[in-house]
Amino acid sequence: MAEATSEKQGCKACGKDFLIIPAEQLFYKKKKLDFPENCPDCRRKRRLSLRNERKLYKRKCDKCKKNIVSTYSADSKYTIYCQECYWEYLG
Ligand SMILES: [Zn+2]
Ligand SMILES: [Zn+2]
Repeated sequence: MAEATSEKQGCKACGKDFLIIPAEQLFYKKKKLDFPENCPDCRRKRRLSLRNERKLYKRKCDKCKKNIVSTYSADSKYTIYCQECYWEYLG
């Protein structure tokens, strides 16, 4: 049987096996690209995390409790001050 088969790959990120279907294999070969090293899930997660890198969170200033916007979420372990409290803190 000369029929093309799906290539099984182990994801380098999560270790899960995933399949590269013949159509995909053809695509990568045509583009002279290596087969992906990460499963579709991890690839999607990576894309999302890259896009969310500068995500802003609504949270409260740890001093005056005013609502502010920060790159750190409310459950992060950092103490976040609003602009005014920050300047006050710096003296
Ligand atoms: Zn994976
Ligand atoms: Zn404040």
